[in-house]
Amino acid sequence: MASAAEMLEVRNPRTGEADHRIPVSSREEVAAKAAALRENQRAWEAMGVEGRCGVMARWLGAVKARAADIGEADAVDTGGCHTSYIQGFITMGNIGGWLEDAPKAFADLAWKGMSTSMPTVEVESQVVAYPITGVISPWNAPLMLALLDAIPALFAGSAVLLKPSEVTPRVIEALFETVREVPELAKVFDYVTGPSQVGQAVIEEVDTICFTGSVPTGRKVAVACAERLIPCNLELGGKDPCIVTENADLERAATAVLRGAVYATGQVCYSIERVYVHESVHDQFVALLAEKAGEVRFNAENPKAGHIGPFTFAPQAAIVTAHIADAVAQGATVVTGGEVENIGGGLYLRPTILTGVNHDMLIMQDETFGPCIPVMAYSDTEEAIRLANDTHFGLTASVIAGDAEEAKAIGRRINAGGIFLQDTFLTFAKLRTFGSDSFGWSGYGSPRIGPESLRRFLRRKSLLTQTGAVADIRNDHHLDEEA
Ligand code: NAD
Repeated sequence: MASAAEMLEVRNPRTGEADHRIPVSSREEVAAKAAALRENQRAWEAMGVEGRCGVMARWLGAVKARAADIGEADAVDTGGCHTSYIQGFITMGNIGGWLEDAPKAFADLAWKGMSTSMPTVEVESQVVAYPITGVISPWNAPLMLALLDAIPALFAGSAVLLKPSEVTPRVIEALFETVREVPELAKVFDYVTGPSQVGQAVIEEVDTICFTGSVPTGRKVAVACAERLIPCNLELGGKDPCIVTENADLERAATAVLRGAVYATGQVCYSIERVYVHESVHDQFVALLAEKAGEVRFNAENPKAGHIGPFTFAPQAAIVTAHIADAVAQGATVVTGGEVENIGGGLYLRPTILTGVNHDMLIMQDETFGPCIPVMAYSDTEEAIRLANDTHFGLTASVIAGDAEEAKAIGRRINAGGIFLQDTFLTFAKLRTFGSDSFGWSGYGSPRIGPESLRRFLRRKSLLTQTGAVADIRNDHHLDEEA
């Protein structure tokens, strides 16, 4: 007799109550799902990209019909933020974008012609999808960060086995109601639930991995993939800096920094986590920032009404508190916020501006992942660039200067994949346009954004045809004989 599935309680970030449960997928269940996906993937790939586009277009219709419900589920998972409520529509944009871009991405990979190094040999390309892509995703932006990889993998012809975060599983359940409405898709797109060991089981079964999450887990995932000799793409954390120069428009800079640092309660991989301001305008900038920060409202009463919500993952509040305490113990000053507040069971933190910080402090070194804005004064541009680059991470960076050219000159010297000039938080502008690599601990593998990101799910083959005479080994002479 099959034993009852082990269940895991899921906390509601607004109430602190465990009001949901998910099964912990067993090792056998993960293996069985992977075996079914592997079997079904052959027909999916054989359909060709045009055939898959037809199926994905029907899925787009199903998502459209339930876009609002998907957003509501995401908001329950995260505690509610503006992006949560529009997740259904973001998913539609993701599918719709690949409907336009995938055929061209395949066409760009096709090549046929004569070899330049062996002119009688014809070279023809073939691309073959990795049969199963494993996607392991985090609790922040839980739907978007699962689908940024899963959707292009499906367009490429892979089957996808998804392991969402055990902290935020509800939105994936809502999404799969739409997947089940499209039978061809349901055969090649499935998910399993549970904590770490379920992610480990997924790695054992799949042919390539896309992981988004923390640096410590990313390292373990990379080692597990290396043991199996399968590729892995890692999207990890950040400690993203913003430089504000002495001739910047401070009003603009304070507005952009505030949003870039506290949006979604700072639980965004490319949140601004360090601000460097020229010493001549430091005090004026901090005063403006504090004034604006004072107008940021919690969504505690109505999840659709405030600017920032509770911490999605309760232990994150303790990490953020430890970073603030460490900074204060080393001499930092808390200008606004600073104390986690329990409102109806949800854990909230007001935008927390700190001054008098330095690079010995955790808050300037480790990922904080909360609405904290440590501000440090610098005296010249070289120092600002040195401080911005004094990090293990390199996801994004922002520069707000007197004009765009000055900002660009500084941005060119910062070690990060996305550089935002005269604003913050411009990552969305890269979508469908141009991918970038992460530096340091922020990532590993190929870009996940841009049309070429489809290649992560495809292996390239070359078919080499000899059109001339074959070589005869008996005509191979020793070099000394030829002389
Ligand atoms: P996490 O590393 O704790 O967990 C991520 C996922 O990995 C979860 O699904 C988890 O169950 C699973 N997992 C845990 N141990 C595993 C193991 N040994 N093998 C396989 N899977 C395992 O990350 P989190 O706390 O959920 O997410 C927050 C982190 O994600 C932050 O560091 C944030 O910066 C990062 N992040 C990065 C990006 C990016 O694009 N660079 C985007 C969003 C979030």
